[in-house]
Amino acid sequence: MTFDLTPEQDQLRDAVRALGRRYGHGYFVEKAKAGEHTTELWAEAGRLGYLGVNIPTEYGGGGGGITELAIVCEELAAAGCPLLLLVVSPAIAATVLTRHGTEEQRKRHLPGLADGSQKIVFAITEPEAGSNFHRLGTVARRDGDGWLLNGRKCYISGVDEADHVLVVARTEDAGTGKLKPALFLVPTDTPGLTRSKLDMEIVSPENQFLLYLDDVRVPADALVGESLDAGLPALFAGLNPERITVAAMGAGTGRYAIERASEYTATRKVWGGRSIGSHQGVSHPLAHAAVQVELARLMIQKAATLYDAGRDLEAGVTGNMAKYAAGEAAALAVDTAVQVLGGAGMTTEYGVATLLGAVRAGRIAPVSREMILNFVAQHVLGQDKSY
Ligand SMILES: Cc1cc2nc3c(=O)[nH]c(=O)nc-3n(C[C@H](O)[C@H](O)[C@H](O)COP(=O)(O)OP(=O)(O)OC[C@H]3O[C@@H](n4cnc5c(N)ncnc54)[C@H](O)[C@@H]3O)c2cc1C
Repeated sequence: MTFDLTPEQDQLRDAVRALGRRYGHGYFVEKAKAGEHTTELWAEAGRLGYLGVNIPTEYGGGGGGITELAIVCEELAAAGCPLLLLVVSPAIAATVLTRHGTEEQRKRHLPGLADGSQKIVFAITEPEAGSNFHRLGTVARRDGDGWLLNGRKCYISGVDEADHVLVVARTEDAGTGKLKPALFLVPTDTPGLTRSKLDMEIVSPENQFLLYLDDVRVPADALVGESLDAGLPALFAGLNPERITVAAMGAGTGRYAIERASEYTATRKVWGGRSIGSHQGVSHPLAHAAVQVELARLMIQKAATLYDAGRDLEAGVTGNMAKYAAGEAAALAVDTAVQVLGGAGMTTEYGVATLLGAVRAGRIAPVSREMILNFVAQHVLGQDKSY
């Protein structure tokens, strides 16, 4: 067993850290408050190959795995730039297409995802179904040689920046008549696909949307994979990378907050010559948060290693645990950082309260802490399904 990264992974970590620091949290917040996107950072990360680290080399990627993509997510977040679209475009969409897309779909989309010129976002959540994906109401019906999609999706991130949405819909199985899930690549300018922006209490340059699909017609080759049977495995293929990379973003955000706070408490003096960090009431909560973040990082590393080794079931358990641990650790770290900075913690300038909304959302999305506990109770502890 080793806890060391390979020399290449170490280099990647250093290089992404340097890129993130050149932009920094100030840039991220400025873009968010101006209602703009982090276009320059995304384009540079794409040019440098960081967005495609997990995409096979024959499609223009770096040929690495989710371990490498998790490094990219963590280091950008640790520099104060937690980019949610890394989780949907390179982690979910690129993995789904690499593993289950047709050769034509891989050729059409993966090079653009790798260099950042294309973004594909992911739409599964629905207003009525919520956490219960078995209740999805978006339906795809055959229409001549194509498909007609109807339904509603909510909280879909980044639709305004993307060229395609990877839509999870249900199709009728010709044999059984039962509805089963399938994934469709829907261009964002397709007639019948409309959106409205949700007002979210998160300081982020990335936005969430309600999506309306009203008789959205797509050609036959919009269906991901060779046949309808690809639907369920394709959907599951995206889940572990999603959990692992969102966990990595949480761990990076936690590191960022603890670093900001530690710098401040080591130098701030309000009682004579001693720093406020010399008081254990200040340093212990920070140290506790640092322990939680490091524990989460270990689980992320384990989950990513298992995933890249093709051990999907074990990666499912550890990926969920990593997401849970990192979500809690990030929320704790940011809240603690705000507290030890005092009034400065609530200012925009010190750049920690700006992350409160994002880390709070990280305990809900993409899978809530309760649904992870349900999963662990059932699959690890052998309890009856509770819902
Ligand atoms: C910032 C942000 C970005 C997002 N981006 C995307 C995106 O790009 N694409 C996308 O498809 N979705 C996206 N989502 C949606 C997200 O995945 C959902 O919000 C999440 O899955 C929870 O679903 P829900 O909001 O409908 O909550 P609900 O299912 O209504 O649940 C509400 C509460 O009840 C709890 N609960 C529900 N069922 C159970 C149960 N059986 N046992 C115990 N507790 C339960 C939940 O844990 C939660 O706390 C995003 C959400 C946010 C906040």
